[in-house]
Amino acid sequence: MPASSSNSELLSIVGCDVLRPDGSVSEGAGLWIEDGLIVDAPADPGKQFEQIDGDGLLAVPGLINAHSHSPEACLRGIGEGLTLEPWLIMMFASSGLYSEQDHYDCALASAAEMLRAGVTTVVDHLWMTPPSGAAIDGAMRAYRDAGIRASIAPLMGDRDYTEELAASVGIDLGDASIAAQIKLLPADELIEILSGAFDRWHGTEGGRLRILAGPSGVQWASDELLEGLAATARANDSGIHVHLLETFVQDASCRLRFGGSTVAALDDLGVLGPDCSFPHSVWLDDDEVALIAERGAVVVHNPAANQRLGSGRAPIAALLDAGVTVALGTDGAASSDNHDLWDCAKLAALIHTDGASWVDSDQAFAMATVGGAAVAGGPALLGRLEVGAPADIVLIERDSLWLSGAQQIVASLVLSNGGRGIRHVLVGGRPVLRDGELTLVDEKQTINKLREQTEARRESVANPSDRTRDAMRHMEQVRAVVAGLGATDGKAMQFVGLEKKG
Ligand SMILES: [Zn+2]
Repeated sequence: MPASSSNSELLSIVGCDVLRPDGSVSEGAGLWIEDGLIVDAPADPGKQFEQIDGDGLLAVPGLINAHSHSPEACLRGIGEGLTLEPWLIMMFASSGLYSEQDHYDCALASAAEMLRAGVTTVVDHLWMTPPSGAAIDGAMRAYRDAGIRASIAPLMGDRDYTEELAASVGIDLGDASIAAQIKLLPADELIEILSGAFDRWHGTEGGRLRILAGPSGVQWASDELLEGLAATARANDSGIHVHLLETFVQDASCRLRFGGSTVAALDDLGVLGPDCSFPHSVWLDDDEVALIAERGAVVVHNPAANQRLGSGRAPIAALLDAGVTVALGTDGAASSDNHDLWDCAKLAALIHTDGASWVDSDQAFAMATVGGAAVAGGPALLGRLEVGAPADIVLIERDSLWLSGAQQIVASLVLSNGGRGIRHVLVGGRPVLRDGELTLVDEKQTINKLREQTEARRESVANPSDRTRDAMRHMEQVRAVVAGLGATDGKAMQFVGLEKKG
């Protein structure tokens, strides 16, 4: 392909088929890109331009991974068979601390994997041990260097309401609390770290890099922290990204804390709004689905991680029926276990087929593109191939075993092809994968660095300490007791709000 590695001002993808926002395909239409945006035709027809040969290729919008955790790139495959709460204890207790360089290496490897899979935007709910501006800088430098579009939501918690839940059923959580595994910082320090990240990174690289507020989870953040992080994001015209009701234990601890609905409590705090995105949202009740729809908040579906950790299945069909925008995320690579969003799109299109409304591949593809744009923020029309949209484009070989038999192109992309045959990827008009090779990332070096870090953590991950094993058992006990209350103790059942969950 006769194109230079520079960020060309004017670029033509000649003769490619183009997937339009309505799901139709314009055969051989090609695309013009000027200053990073898709245009009808160049403003100056005499201007020099680069060409990419699009013959036999289908242009689709770059996918948007609306929820991930880059530090888990070196923790793949851990804790299979564990539910979320003991899995979290194992992961945080055994993976140890991360330096700024560790964050850089993990985020670069994650970005490389995503670009190879046609994911051009990532929302990194970046957990840090411990939280710091340097950790955020490490991950953000990697996204800057890889050329991917990235929104980092630095993950922050200041207390663990699971402790109160455990105490309410007669268990002293002790070492089993999240607070005992990772260093929690006071709300004011965390808000300052977020504020600094906004100052250093938000809107840099021509708007390609962004910051979101990232409270860890509602059950791991005080009112003060939720309100303070939300206010900081809003002062910077950005959004709030927070884990919501991933498991019934979280649901129970939030109901105990608020004395009722978690989503209604977020609304009362002034946090709930159209700038909020909620990964997981598995344990929403009908009123919470309706309130999320009314406030225009976004839900991020994480089907792979939810299945892997036995968390349950989010009410995606009901959310879509209510008019909620749904995005799609892989979640971290320790729970899902890659960053290939096509896997998640296929799962999303397959696991919601037992109610009156089914979720289909058109909806799953929309989650992976325009739905994700509502979480990541950034330029208008992100996630669509149309004039004025950013040129975040994936060019897929159409004459393949997986696509040449396609009767319905979007269904075949989601259900048949997945991430195969990706030849070129552009972000903001800049080729970041060309003829199957990453242009900005030294892939071999990135893999070596990831392997080194994986080796460094292998011993502690393989052999959790007695303290960690005790903590995991302790948390299993809490889960069992909380679940058991639903069947055995009407009063407590009502207390923890499990009666509707069966
Ligand atoms: Zn997550």
